[in-house]
Amino acid sequence: MSAFENYQTVAAQVAQCALDCGRNPQDVTLIAVSKTVDTETVRQAMAAGAHHFGENRPESLAAKADALEDQTWHFIGNIQSRQIPRIVQHAALIHSLYQPRHAEKINQAAAAAGKVQQVLVEVNVSGEESKSGCAPDQAAHLVRLCTTLPNVCVRGLMTMAPRGNTEAVRATFAGLAALRTDIASSLDAQSASQFNELSMGMSEDWREAIAAGATMVRIGRAIFSDTFEG
Ligand SMILES: *Cc1c(COP(=O)(O)O)cnc(C)c1O
Repeated sequence: MSAFENYQTVAAQVAQCALDCGRNPQDVTLIAVSKTVDTETVRQAMAAGAHHFGENRPESLAAKADALEDQTWHFIGNIQSRQIPRIVQHAALIHSLYQPRHAEKINQAAAAAGKVQQVLVEVNVSGEESKSGCAPDQAAHLVRLCTTLPNVCVRGLMTMAPRGNTEAVRATFAGLAALRTDIASSLDAQSASQFNELSMGMSEDWREAIAAGATMVRIGRAIFSDTFEG
């Protein structure tokens, strides 16, 4: 199977899943995580209708965004301070903010670039040590910090579920959804109205994520790997 066929299949499955969950398919954005593939393969997915792509390294983000115009690029990787200007230059949305000092640096870089940077706060809902993200009880503080930064717009939350155990996956996604509702209720009306996004769900668990309210799913292997069995 090619990236073209895989993307078409996954996009149709994601839309059908949204319908099955009683949701509008337009409320679930499929982000094709292209971090393991080259520009030509990304073009195949584009030909199948993909417009949103996720990258986890600033260099690949910049290279692909420069080569492939008019796409929406999502930065989903670990943030390093010195890379922030490059990330801000290319990313429409940064999913992986979890440190206050990075929020300040993103604000500075965005001001210098003359943009307002959209961000999500990454939360380690499951508490696994191997996972990045802030603790759930620190998320509200970071979100509120973002709302004070003029060149940052905080749009919601992101998480990664533990692998394998479906009950733990569901609990993680439900936990992120509840946290978003909770934080939104503590924000001023203007900030709350923009704090709607839930980025959760990958190749193995996007169905559970959509059922729990994901507005963005980040799918890599199911689109770009020859060997993935969904
Ligand atoms: C790689 C990656 C994905 C995609 O994972 P797959 O299992 O390949 O679908 C999603 N989110 C993040 C943060 C990633 O690093």
